[in-house]
Amino acid sequence: METISSIDAMRAWCREKSISGKTIGLVPTMGALHKGHLSLVHAAKNSCDHCVTSIFVNPTQFAANEDLDQYPRPIEDDLAMLRHAGVEAVFMPTADEMYPGGVERHATSVHPSAVALPLEGVHRPEHFAGVATVVMKLFQAAPSDRAFFGRKDFQQLCVIEHMVRDMNLSIEIVPCDIVREPDGLAMSSRNRYLSDDERQRALCISKSLNLVERAFLDGSRDAKQLESIMADHLSPCDSVDYAVVADRQTLLPVPKITRNAVALVAARLGATRLIDNRELETE
Ligand code: AMP
Repeated sequence: METISSIDAMRAWCREKSISGKTIGLVPTMGALHKGHLSLVHAAKNSCDHCVTSIFVNPTQFAANEDLDQYPRPIEDDLAMLRHAGVEAVFMPTADEMYPGGVERHATSVHPSAVALPLEGVHRPEHFAGVATVVMKLFQAAPSDRAFFGRKDFQQLCVIEHMVRDMNLSIEIVPCDIVREPDGLAMSSRNRYLSDDERQRALCISKSLNLVERAFLDGSRDAKQLESIMADHLSPCDSVDYAVVADRQTLLPVPKITRNAVALVAARLGATRLIDNRELETE
């Protein structure tokens, strides 16, 4: 497995691998890898001839009060997992390599579509501009045929899908299902921050989504009713940023579910903020 830190070398690798029509799958990550990330790697390996994974903790998607400095960076473990998974190349650029104009300055950036505004956009106003910008940069650094993103970060997936559509990018975005712990907790790099007690209480998030799904499958279409089911079961969390039912396309609130929707939760356990969601499909 090659580890590559310069954009020039990454581009050269992709150029070489894509000769004679071979396809490349890109899996962007921030490291601290778990089985959720590996499911993206497996999907990439299954559908592409070559697979590259990036590990880059992107400073521009963290607000000043967030966990950029504490974000876990177990790089040796990550590389061992990727080697074991059969990844051929890992792109690990420095912040200077990715942001030649500096991260603090007013450099050129991507302004995401309106789907970035609700939900996370309310609680983390600069977050998706940082995400869209770094993903655009990764697409330039590692030109690939397909890029694999988890449904775990549902709004992020929507932001990236819109960016690819709106900017006419020639890359296919492949959404991948949420991988969960056996007890239902959605896998996340941030789960390692949780104390035993917080880890136990965090289970209410996936349980509340299970209950919403069950009510939806039993015929409930009233968003307020579904949201109150979530609210009732999220009390073990220390705080809840949102627990809502939104339209699948716009992520805006819907009073009544008449087409595909999604239930989304963001909640804190101690200092750790977790997100999860469940798609509610009408067709
Ligand atoms: P991150 O390292 O948190 O930026 O995540 C990198 C990619 O892995 C994103 O596309 C995430 O949506 C995806 N991902 C993270 N956790 C999971 C999970 N539990 N199941 C599926 N995909 C995930």
